[in-house]
Amino acid sequence: MLTHAQALSALQVRGLDINRVTLYRLLDRLAACGALQRHADDDARTWRYSLADLDDGLAPRFECDACHRQFRVAEGSAPTQAAATDLLRTLAQLGHQGVRVDVAIHGTCAGCLPARGASKSQG
Ligand SMILES: [Zn+2]
Repeated sequence: MLTHAQALSALQVRGLDINRVTLYRLLDRLAACGALQRHADDDARTWRYSLADLDDGLAPRFECDACHRQFRVAEGSAPTQAAATDLLRTLAQLGHQGVRVDVAIHGTCAGCLPARGASKSQG
């Protein structure tokens, strides 16, 4: 996984002079369309990017709206793929050509949810 700064220096080492802000937008767009996966660092101040794993079928994504961390729900891969195939078939019957199905679930991750039940002593 690369941070924005690491990606920038990797490109510059290869002789590509790209604007810092341009690269930022590019990384964000690639992440938005699913080509890259975006991960928050532990302190959630730095994004890291990695190539999206396109081979693990259609695993639904879960994104925490609080910390914007993304999780792949690999266990949901097979049923999601089946549902996607159905949807694409339905589209095809209507004359449309579906290319990509993206399943995203938004919510609050376990780390951001307030602890439930009896309060435990912390620290
Ligand atoms: Zn969270």
